[in-house]
This record gives sequence, structure tokens and C-alpha cells, in this order.
Amino acid sequence: MQDYKPHFQKVQRHAYRKVILFAVIAIIATAVIFQFESSETPITTEPAKTPFVIQKLKIPGTDSKTPDSTPAVKTEAPLQITEYESVAASRPEPQNTNVIDIAEPDKAEPPETLSAAATIVASAPVTDTPTMTATWETRVIKSGDSLANIFKEWKLSPTTLHKIVTSSKLAKTLADIHPGETLKLMRDDDDSLLELMVVRNPTETLLITKTDKGFESEKIIREVEVRHAYASGTIETSLFIDGQNSGLTDAQIMEMAGIFGWDIDFALELRKGDSFKLLYEEHFLDGKKYRNGPILTAEFHNNQKTFKAVRYTTPDNITSYYDPDDGRNKKRAFIRTPVKFARISSRFTNKRFHPKLKKWRAHRGVDYAAPTGTPIKAAGKGKVTFRGKKGGYGKTVMIQHGTKYTTLYAHLSKYSKNSRKGKTVSQGQVIGYVGKTGLATGPHLHYEFRVNGVHRNPLTVKLPKADPISKKYRQDFNAKSTELIATFKRFAGNEQQIAKTEDTPKDG
Ligand SMILES: [Zn+2]
Repeated sequence: MQDYKPHFQKVQRHAYRKVILFAVIAIIATAVIFQFESSETPITTEPAKTPFVIQKLKIPGTDSKTPDSTPAVKTEAPLQITEYESVAASRPEPQNTNVIDIAEPDKAEPPETLSAAATIVASAPVTDTPTMTATWETRVIKSGDSLANIFKEWKLSPTTLHKIVTSSKLAKTLADIHPGETLKLMRDDDDSLLELMVVRNPTETLLITKTDKGFESEKIIREVEVRHAYASGTIETSLFIDGQNSGLTDAQIMEMAGIFGWDIDFALELRKGDSFKLLYEEHFLDGKKYRNGPILTAEFHNNQKTFKAVRYTTPDNITSYYDPDDGRNKKRAFIRTPVKFARISSRFTNKRFHPKLKKWRAHRGVDYAAPTGTPIKAAGKGKVTFRGKKGGYGKTVMIQHGTKYTTLYAHLSKYSKNSRKGKTVSQGQVIGYVGKTGLATGPHLHYEFRVNGVHRNPLTVKLPKADPISKKYRQDFNAKSTELIATFKRFAGNEQQIAKTEDTPKDG
């Protein structure tokens, strides 16, 4: 018996060891499996980063109002696609309400083709003041409102208003309120002003805050999210009707006509079968379309000829449209007609009977009849060389454009402050107003165009092209326009693809 017991104990001990060993192995194995599982999805534990850069492909006919379902790519840095990651499913609630989710990487374009991507920079919505529990009193500014009156309405003292507007240069702009803007007020426990903001528009707000040191002001700019959109159409009826049918607004149609207005006379040369394609910007706030941005690149096919334009802003911030192939400016150095909505009342001739002088005289300009006060625009960029009364010309402005060209504007009722002698004026800038000073029977603009001092017919003289891309910006222009054209072609290609699919009969 005595032998048995120790033996039993030995056997038992052996069994215990086996159980413990097994348990240890099981624990280690479980731990290893867990380790593997958790290491498979480390991304989901990381919060998503903002701001995002996003690019949307919009083809006419698709619903532009559902950004969430649109193929999109996001990265961290504006203007550059640097990374390509999936959005974490368990990411925290974004603090910025204008964050666009959710990217679908499998449907999106490869990153290297997206260098022309538009940007979104999300900023905190202005209405979020995290530490405040109080609510804002809101007042929409109506015509006839003044800050003084609104302060009175709010039972705030004129002294407070005076203290605010004299606190800084920025705070002074508070006084400049316009109908449609919104004023928002938050009070402290004593019912006096704690914070005041003017919401100028959805992107711009002026915020005034009371601090221990007085009033502090801050301008809050919310950057819009920019997306690319594409439209195309064929002329069947008119530029406006067919433009609208392809989804463009009247303003965009005007913009397109302005870009190609130097190549095509839309009133006379537009033909049935002409067509256009354009890539433009759409600006979004909080995922909702806020407004259209500019046309970025466009093509207009008119009577067997194709005209192209690409928008480019120089590093010194001058924006114009250029031919992507040769970098030539789409504009000419001169506009043909310096007054809008005018009627030609007298043409250029070498001899004519002057109604006031009662004798035959040459008329070396064009007369445009227009109501007194109609603005007169500088035909081109140049320097004002003369401003004053000039005999029968009455009030006159003369502009020198480079070394070769001079323009003259006569019979003005008054000058604009931009046209003082020696001032540089830009093309289209108002220099004065139509009148009938000097020898004039009725209000009109007498306009002259001289090339190397010789009078030429302003209606027929060949107008030089505006300056092309300067050499120092040529490389930058080439790079940027190549990107834009690539994006444009991708949209156009997608559209063709869709058209092809729709045309293919279902049975084969
Ligand atoms: Zn005249």
C-alpha cells in the first residue's frame, strides 16, 4: 500500500505536468493567432486624416448631387496626390463637416494620372465654437440697416460698437455691412457682447471676440472644395439653347463665348453642327455644390476649324486663356469696340460732309452713338498720354499702346479717375463716359486708331494678338496645360465610351 501511494502520486504528478504543458502551449498558440489577426488590420485603428484632396469624374447625365457614390481619390496634401490609402471603417466622427467620404480606391483612377486633381481644404465650420454652450442670436441684414440700429435693437451700447470698430483695421471693416449678410451675436453672463460675427458669404466670415485685452478680430476664410466637371454639346439651334441643353448656365455660355470671341464671331459665323467641349471647376461646400468655378480648358469646333484654349495663371497672378499648342494668348491686344450696345453712326472715310462745320472733311475714326454716360473702355492696355479738352473733340483721352499704337476717345461727358495722364490702364478698363462735348450733334463716342501715327479704320484694322506666354513662364505653362489637357481628354474619352455603350444594340 505504501508503495502504491507514491507510485500513484508520481503518475498523478506526471498527468498534472502534461495538463499544464498543454495549457501553456494552448495559451501561446492563442496569443500567436490573436497577434496575427490584429496585425492584419492595423489601419482600421488609425483615425483618418484630413484635409483630403478629391477628384470626381462627372460625365453629363450622371448625378452630380451624390458625391458619396462618386469614384474619388483622396490624399493628405492639397494639389498633390501623395498617398493612396483606404478609408478606415472605424474612424472617428470627422470634426470638419466639409470632409468628403468615402473614397473607393478600386474604382478610382491610378494616382499618377491625377496630378491635376482639385483640392479641398477643410476648415472648421464657423458656427462651431466648442467651448460655448450659449446660442447665437442671428440677424439677416436688410436694405437700410445700419450697425448702430442693430446694436440698439440688441440693446448693446454705442460705446461697445465704437470700441470694436476702432480696435483694429480689420475690425473697422465690420461697419461695411451689406443686405443679405448675416450678423451673429453671442452674449456673456452679463448679457454684454462676447462674440460677434458677420457672415459675408458661405466662405467668408469676420469674427470679433471680446478678450481681456479688448476686442480681437479675425477673418475666417473657408476654402471651397474644387472638383472638375465636363460638358459638351453640338449647335442645333443657338449657342444659348444648345449650351443650356448641355447643362451650362448662361454665365458659363457667356464665358465660353468670351474666350473664343476673338476667333469666332458668334453672331455671324456660328453654324449648325459646330460643337464644343469644356472642362470647368465646380466649387463645393459641405459636400454641396456652391457655385461654378472658371472654365479650365475648352475646344470649339467651328466650320471645319478647331479652336482650343487653356486657362493659365502666371506665378505673378495674371490669368488669361492661351492656345495650348503654341502658348499664344486667346485675346487680342485690342478690343474692336470700346463701347457696349452702341450703334455705328458714322464710319471711317477720307471725305465726308461735316454737319456742324457745313463743309467736307475726312472722318478718320468711327462714331458710336450711345446714351450720355455710357462707359467707354480702353481698347487695350496702355498709358494715358493726354486727357483734356481738344478743340472740336471736346473732352478727350488718348492712350499709347506700346510704341506702335495710339487710340483716341472724344466728346466725353466726363472722365473716369483711372484715366489721369500718365496712368497705366488695362484692356477694358473704363476711362470715361459718352457725351457730346466739342463739335457733336448728339451723344456719341468718336474713336480713332493709329498705327505708327497713321489713322486706320478701327473697324477693319488687323488687331495684333495679346502677348503670348512669356519665356520665363513657358515651362510652367507647358507642364500645367499638359495636365489640364490630359484631364480634359480623360473626361472626353469617358463620355465617348458611354456614348458607344449606349449606341451598341443590346442583342449584340
Ligand atoms: Zn467722329
